[in-house]
Amino acid sequence: MRHIVAKAGDVMIGHGHPIVVQTMCNTHTADIEASVAQCIRLHEAGAQMIRLTVPGMREVEALREIRDRLRAEGIGTPLVADVHFSSEIAIAAAEVVEKVRINPGNFHHNHEQAKLQFSRLVQVCRRRGTAIRIGLNHGSLGQRITDLYGNTPLAMKEAAAEWLDMCQENDFYNVVVSLKASNTIVMVEAYRLLYEEMKRRGIIFPLHLGVTEAGNGDAGRMKSATGIAALLSEGIGDTIRVSLTEDPANEVPVARHIADRFDGRLHSTMTAVKIENREVKATYSAPSREILLLDMACDFGRRLLDREIDGISIGGEYMITGKDGQPAPVSLEGTEEAAYLCDELMQAARRRFYRPEYIACPGCGRTMYSLEATFNEVKRRTAHLKGMVIAVMGCIVNGPGEMADADWGYVGEGNGKVSIYRGKNPVMRHVPENEAIDCLLKLIEEAEAQNEASA
Ligand code: SF4
Repeated sequence: MRHIVAKAGDVMIGHGHPIVVQTMCNTHTADIEASVAQCIRLHEAGAQMIRLTVPGMREVEALREIRDRLRAEGIGTPLVADVHFSSEIAIAAAEVVEKVRINPGNFHHNHEQAKLQFSRLVQVCRRRGTAIRIGLNHGSLGQRITDLYGNTPLAMKEAAAEWLDMCQENDFYNVVVSLKASNTIVMVEAYRLLYEEMKRRGIIFPLHLGVTEAGNGDAGRMKSATGIAALLSEGIGDTIRVSLTEDPANEVPVARHIADRFDGRLHSTMTAVKIENREVKATYSAPSREILLLDMACDFGRRLLDREIDGISIGGEYMITGKDGQPAPVSLEGTEEAAYLCDELMQAARRRFYRPEYIACPGCGRTMYSLEATFNEVKRRTAHLKGMVIAVMGCIVNGPGEMADADWGYVGEGNGKVSIYRGKNPVMRHVPENEAIDCLLKLIEEAEAQNEASA
């Protein structure tokens, strides 16, 4: 078996190397001051690679300046250019940063042209030592692939395999692959299929894991940990990003904890477990609430996804900082909070939906509105719509494509305007931001009323 190790700057990714923790800026890349400041914060938080969005050539030049300023500060963290829709921008960015992420679904609309452009990209990457991430997303697979295989984990695997063939045809191996989805079942299955395919072919490329558009708060953390930990527990995955609709600095300790668990540097804070009739009763003694919920997802997410168990309850305690500044225990025994965390884990593993399912992108330099505040407001106003899938996406360029499976979508257009989607179709465009949540709710209510009338 041949195991590939990719290299971005001084960071090694793949076989035998520790799991690499990465994150992404949500600044406008052309805003050099803000981007440099955020990169410094993310570096200080422990990010080992930092990605920035590169929508145009102006951002390629900004990236050069950001890189130079960071290096002048003594920060060597590899930078990753996130490129969609333009192979020329990817080729230009490969001259500047240590790694370029391309999305095969939108690298070039013509497959033969895509092959030619990819060869040009590879030439630059070979000369500069730049790594490439083949970054597929469930929501933005190309038309050609979905016509052949549907919008499925199999299609994701086939698309990735096709692009890995292109890497091998070009004799280029400084490559990492990702197959992200917001649905944890789809995400885990796609990576497993690709891993099996790579084993069958005798060549294992490094994998970047992530649950995309995971949302925020407890749900975003548990969903991410469930999908990522399921794969890491099987030895699948070499670098991870936890995508949260929050300050990206919050992503880093979450990813670090998951990486440390599966690199063997940390153990679970679970102190006892009993399994009877496929129901788990676990006891925890966690140093914080965040560690508790991450450990729950790391310990039982995969077993729930794979239907090895059917339910979970927890007891024990976690620590908070008390009024006197000293650690104080919070008991979980028989509490609503314990039941709520178990409900969240069941939903993260898609075993039981006790509230709406939210898809929310983490935001990036393409986001043109206050994404986190809007997402929280959408969550507050739609909390009663149990089982419905609602997406809140930062931009009109990638948002509609990425929100696979959403029943409804709130998509920022820029200039204070929003598009409302029902499934894949825009049903209202150019809605002023201050009216958009009301408008979304009205459309949902009307559609529900119609459904009831025709039932
Ligand atoms: S959908 Fe969100 S994360 Fe993706 S490119 Fe648009 S703003 Fe950035």
